[in-house]
Amino acid sequence: MKIVFLGAPGAGKGTQAKIFCEERKFAHISTGDMLRAAVSSGSELGKKAKVIMDAGQLVPDTLIVDLIAARTQEADCLNGYVLDGFPRTVAQAQALAQMLAEKGESLSSVVLFELTEEEVNRRLAHRRGVEARSDDAEETQRKRQQVYREQTAPLIDYYRAQGLLKTVDASGTVEEVNAALQKALA
Ligand code: AMP
Repeated sequence: MKIVFLGAPGAGKGTQAKIFCEERKFAHISTGDMLRAAVSSGSELGKKAKVIMDAGQLVPDTLIVDLIAARTQEADCLNGYVLDGFPRTVAQAQALAQMLAEKGESLSSVVLFELTEEEVNRRLAHRRGVEARSDDAEETQRKRQQVYREQTAPLIDYYRAQGLLKTVDASGTVEEVNAALQKALA
């Protein structure tokens, strides 16, 4: 299975992807985690990405698509994988579809984690106090929400039109959302 997790920053995609992938023995592919690892390593990619991430903007599509192309070739992806935080633009979604089609593959499902903007803001304020992510600063967050609305939310209709979209109410506890996710993908 090849599944995309979609939702605003703070909707809980990452937490759910981690649990779900452990349960199913799928690879959890988080582009945000990959970029944060690059930042920590001090690589050229990391230096470039940090400036963009701290501004709440998206790193260039080509860079992310290349990262995903390499990552999905790895052995742990054979059993299936969840893409968490990718694609984030229609251009990335098109590149992903093409990459899969070249291998005779396609996406199994796209799960949208639905949460009101009010609840997203409440959760992010909480995360600021707990995780110390440099891109969780309030102004960066506002920018990230705007980027989500303008560049990523169009993917909802894009995938709905392909009949791939499944919706999960992300407002409950971690356990409740996990149960809703299992049901949506059953
Ligand atoms: P995340 O942890 O998924 O919220 O990602 C953190 C930051 O990494 C984002 O705000 C972007 O700057 C960058 N990023 C992660 N995934 C992508 C992507 N698919 N395309 C562009 N930028 C990304």
